[in-house]
Amino acid sequence: STAAPLAGAAADTHCPYCALQCAMTLTPPLTLDLTPEKAALPTVGPRDFPTNRGGLCQKGWTSASVLGAADRLTTPLIRSAAGELAPATWDEALDLIATRLLALQDEHGQDCVGVFGGGGLTNEKAYTLGKFARVALGTPFIDYNGRFCMSSAAAGANRAFGLDRGLPFPLADLGGAQAILLLGSNPSETMPPFVQHLAGARSRGGLVVVDPRHSPTAALTDDGGGLHLQPLPGTDIVVLLGLLHLVWATGRADTPYLAERVTGAEDVRASVSEWWPERVERVTGVPADDLRRAAEILAAAAPLASGSGAYVLTGRGVEQHAHGTDTVTAAINLALALGLPGRVGSGYGCLTGQGNGQGGREHGQKADQLPGYRSISDPAARAHVAAVWSVDPDTLPGPGVPAMQLLGRLGEPGGIRALLVHGSNLVVSAPGAVQVTERLRALDLLVVCDFVPSETALLADVVLPVTQWAEEEGTMTSLEGRVIRRRKVIDPPPGVRSELDVWAALAGRLGAPARFETDPALVMDELARASAGGIADYGGVSHERLDRGDEIHWPCPDPAHPGTPRALLDRFATPDGRARMLPVEPRGVDDELRSDAPYYAITGRVLQHYQSGAQTRRVRELVAGEPRAFVQLHPRTAATLGIEEGQDVTLTSARGSCTAPARLSREIRPESVFVPFHFPGAERANALTNPATDPVSGMPEFKVTAVSIRAAQGD
Ligand code: SF4
Repeated sequence: STAAPLAGAAADTHCPYCALQCAMTLTPPLTLDLTPEKAALPTVGPRDFPTNRGGLCQKGWTSASVLGAADRLTTPLIRSAAGELAPATWDEALDLIATRLLALQDEHGQDCVGVFGGGGLTNEKAYTLGKFARVALGTPFIDYNGRFCMSSAAAGANRAFGLDRGLPFPLADLGGAQAILLLGSNPSETMPPFVQHLAGARSRGGLVVVDPRHSPTAALTDDGGGLHLQPLPGTDIVVLLGLLHLVWATGRADTPYLAERVTGAEDVRASVSEWWPERVERVTGVPADDLRRAAEILAAAAPLASGSGAYVLTGRGVEQHAHGTDTVTAAINLALALGLPGRVGSGYGCLTGQGNGQGGREHGQKADQLPGYRSISDPAARAHVAAVWSVDPDTLPGPGVPAMQLLGRLGEPGGIRALLVHGSNLVVSAPGAVQVTERLRALDLLVVCDFVPSETALLADVVLPVTQWAEEEGTMTSLEGRVIRRRKVIDPPPGVRSELDVWAALAGRLGAPARFETDPALVMDELARASAGGIADYGGVSHERLDRGDEIHWPCPDPAHPGTPRALLDRFATPDGRARMLPVEPRGVDDELRSDAPYYAITGRVLQHYQSGAQTRRVRELVAGEPRAFVQLHPRTAATLGIEEGQDVTLTSARGSCTAPARLSREIRPESVFVPFHFPGAERANALTNPATDPVSGMPEFKVTAVSIRAAQGD
C-alpha cells in the first residue's frame, strides 16, 4: 500500500462524510508545530475533481477537527461489575469478546450473534466485515445502516434494470441537462458542491423539485429556475403517477424506445390512466396546472428518440417510506416512459447519502448478499466466494434478515444475544430509537468499535477504539460508482487499531478457518477476486491502479479494463436486456394521522451536520452554526397551538417524544413539521419515527410520522 506522505507533504484524498466524496488535499502537521490548537491536526485544502470541482462544504473544510476530537477513544473499555466502562488492554478486551461469543454460541447456537455494519466503512472494511460474520462467526445475521439509507432505491433499480449503481452515469453529465426532476433531496444543505451540477437545468428553467418543504434546494426553482411541487408528505408516488399519466395522455411517451428496450409499458400505461391532474391535486395538494407544467418541462427536454437532456433523480425523501420501493419504481417508470435510462445525456439515478453508501452495499454487508452483489442463496455465487476464502461453501450461512428485523431479534427468546456494531450509532439513528435502545440494553454482549464515545458506544459492554479516515489507507465508492482512494495522512493516536486488525485478531481467537488480511491493499486484491464476475465487478480494481491515477467506475472486470463510467448503454442488466416497468399504486402511509396525532413529522438533515452527528457534533464551527435540534413549523400552525418562535415544543408519536425549540417558517406545509435527526437525548428525532418497513427493501418509514405538538414550557 501507499506509504504515508512525508510530514508537510499534501496528500490527495477525499472528505470523510457524504457520498459526494469531495476531493481535497490534506497536509499533515509539521512535527515542530506543537501549539495545542494545531498539534496533530492536518490542514484541508481544495482539490479539483469532476464531482466537486474544488468545492467543499463547511463539513469538509472542518473535517480535520474530528481527528483531534477532545474525547477521542484511545484505549479499549470494558464495563466493570459496577457498571462503569473502565480502561483495559487490547488483549483483555479481545480475549473477553472471543470468550463470551464462543460461550454464547456454544449455549444458544451460532445464530445468537449479530453484526451491524455501516455505509461509512471503506470498501476493504465492508468486505472484511461480511466475511468475518459468515466465516469467523458463522452467523447469517449481518446487515448495516445502509438499509436505512438507499435500500429502496437499490431495490427499485434492481427490479427495473437488474443493476443498482446510484448514478449509472458520471455526475458531471448532469451539467448538460435541459431538465432535472429532483425528488426528495436537498443537496443545497446535504452536499452543497453538488448544486453546481444543477445550474444548467436551472438556467433553462428546467429544475423541478418535489419536496413537502420549500427547502433551500426547492428555492433554486424560484425566479425562473423551474418549478417546486410541494405535495402532502407520503404522496410523492401520486405526483409521479400523475406525471406518467400526462406523458402518455399528451403523446410524449418515447414509443420506439419503449418497444425496443422496455417490457411492461402497456401495463403501466393502463395503471395510470385515471390519474388525471385534478385527481392528483385532490390527493397531494399539488395544483393541477403545476403538474401539467412539470410534465411539459420534462417532456420537452426529452424529445422523442433523441434521448437527451432530462434526468430523474431520487433521494431519501421519497425513498424512506414503508412503500419507498414502489415510489422509486414510479420514478423509474417515468424515466423509462420518457426514454431516458441507458442513453448518453439522460437517465435515472439515486443520490446516495453515506460516504460509502454505494460500496458499502456491494461487498457483503447486506443480509442477502456476498461480494460482487452476488446472492448468498445462489449456489454458484457461494462456491465462487467460498473458493476465494478457502472455505467449504456448505459452511457458509444462508441469508439473514434486513436491519430492522435484525434489531427486532435483539434480546428475544431464541434471538440475538450478542451484537457487534461497526460504523453505526443506532441509539440516535435507528427508527423507534427508544425501543431499539432498550433492545441493545437487553443484550448479553454489546461490542462497539468507534473512534469517539458515541451514544451507542456508551451502552456497550466492550468498546474498541479504532482508526478513522485520514489515519488509514482504503477506498470508497462514490455516488457515481467511482472507486476512489482514501489515504493515510497521519498516524492514529497510540492505542488505536484498524478494524481490519480487530477482525483478524478476533478471527484467530475464534478459530476461524480462513485467513483475514490486515493490509488494505491486499484486502482490495482479495475483494477483486471475490467480486470478479459479479454484478458489482471490481476484478480489475487495485490500489496500485488507483494510485497511478486511473479513474475506475465499476464494473471493471480485469486490470486492462478502463471501467464503465456509463453503464446500461447497450442493454440493461436483465436476462433479456430490457428494462422492466412495473405497475405500482399508492398504499398510503403506515402512520396515519389520528385525532391525538394530527400532524406529520418529517426528519432530515441540516447544512452543518451529518448522520447521527457523532462526528459533526464534535466540531466547534459546526456546533456554533447549528448547536441543537429545532422544530420547523408553519406560523399558522404555531398560532393555532399558541406556540412562539424559540419556545420549546414537544412532539409525541406512538413511540416516543422529542423536544426542541420552535422555528417558524413558511417553507413547510401547515400540517407538517420538520426535525433534524442529528441530535441525541431529548432532541432525538428518531424517538418519534416509525420502524414499519418496506416489504421489498426493508427500508423503515422515517419520513412520515404522525405526531402531536404541544408547548413544552412548564413541563
Ligand atoms: Fe464532504 Fe459531502 Fe460536504 Fe463534499 S458535500 S465536503 S463530501 S460533506
